[in-house]
Amino acid sequence: MAHTLPSLPYDYSALEPHIDARTMELHHTKHHQAYIDKLNAALEKQSELTGRDLEDLLRNIESVPQDIRTAVRNHGGGHANHSMFWKIMRPGGSQPSGQLNEAISQTFGGLNDLQEKFNTAGANQFGSGWVWLVQRDHKLEIITTANQDSPLMQGLYPILGNDVWEHAYYLKYQNRRPEYLKAWWNVLNWEEIARRYEQSLAWAKKAA
Ligand code: MN
Repeated sequence: MAHTLPSLPYDYSALEPHIDARTMELHHTKHHQAYIDKLNAALEKQSELTGRDLEDLLRNIESVPQDIRTAVRNHGGGHANHSMFWKIMRPGGSQPSGQLNEAISQTFGGLNDLQEKFNTAGANQFGSGWVWLVQRDHKLEIITTANQDSPLMQGLYPILGNDVWEHAYYLKYQNRRPEYLKAWWNVLNWEEIARRYEQSLAWAKKAA
């Protein structure tokens, strides 16, 4: 079955003033849609892959036939990354709690310290890419990836990630990526992120 664009769980203007409505609309209807269209076009050439779970394909990217591997990596990565991105945001934002909040304190000292390290990593990512919070061997870690590469390709489960491609912020922030990185924390959905943290623990157990 072909991949389709997931609808946003809020309006395009819902994340204002931190992320503007025009950016959200273009990002969702043009950029994300383009990844999906190109992923579907690639998978049509290898019909035995059409039923496979996308995360499964990404974590086993080397098993994807060579003629479509780059397309699945770029556009499948783009589809998976953006599908996560919309869901980990919400109007009004929220605060981390429970087990995840404790893990953040243990690893980084606190949320402010996590934000600072994460924003520095995101600002230093040269060119297009993503900055992530992942879990490796039951410890939280910040990593960056180029292009649309997913942490799944390194055997890591993405707990949260921010898109630092210019298309994610340029209309409002132009060259001021650090300002966008800072503002983004105001619209995070920590309930969904906590769910992903649980998922990362379950996933690590399965992989071990
Ligand atoms: Mn994007």
